[in-house]
Amino acid sequence: MDKTTLILNVLDEMFPNAKAELNYTNHYELLVAVILSAQTTDIQVNKVTPILFKRYPTVYELSSAKQEAVEVLINSIGLYKNKAKNIIKMANQVVTHFDGIIPSRREDLESLAGVGRKTANVILSNLFDTPAIAVDTHVHRVSIRLGLAKKTDDVYQTEMKLYKIFPKERWTKLHHQLIFFGRYHCTSRNPKCLTCKLYEVCKYDNKPKKV
Ligand code: SF4
Repeated sequence: MDKTTLILNVLDEMFPNAKAELNYTNHYELLVAVILSAQTTDIQVNKVTPILFKRYPTVYELSSAKQEAVEVLINSIGLYKNKAKNIIKMANQVVTHFDGIIPSRREDLESLAGVGRKTANVILSNLFDTPAIAVDTHVHRVSIRLGLAKKTDDVYQTEMKLYKIFPKERWTKLHHQLIFFGRYHCTSRNPKCLTCKLYEVCKYDNKPKKV
């Protein structure tokens, strides 16, 4: 079995139902949640979004929000001041330029405050059935350890390499599976190498020797 197939099979076996762990009920809520999730855990974001969305149920309410009022609701997450500013600005942009509808084109998404390539990929793949792999810290680390990307690659280079290696129809599911694999198994510290089904194909320098 080749390495690509092995990785896909192992991830399917380990995480058959991998999916976004952010809670949302519509396009607006997912976009806000993803912007808030930068350098913060999904669990932390899920704690603040229920009250945030109750207070500001659509882009229209959020677009006219006072920054201090939003900050109070999200101040338990990292970088909350900047994120409060960005989500209000994003809401204004969506109201002004996109008739209040979260856009489905990459260029339009990336024109919004707080939305970079990674966030756009999450939105495109989860909301608009556009295959994409958002390379976050977990996906980047796992890709390097498995030898799918180089240590010197940046996240964009890693994303492009993953697109060449894996079939397009698997990208969106693979994205979630690689996050789960990095979050729960191939963790930054103390990865579970000795029980790992990808041990033989892994290129990680520091993996412990099997005796
Ligand atoms: S062997 Fe260790 S470092 Fe390599 S993929 Fe498995 S858990 Fe990660």
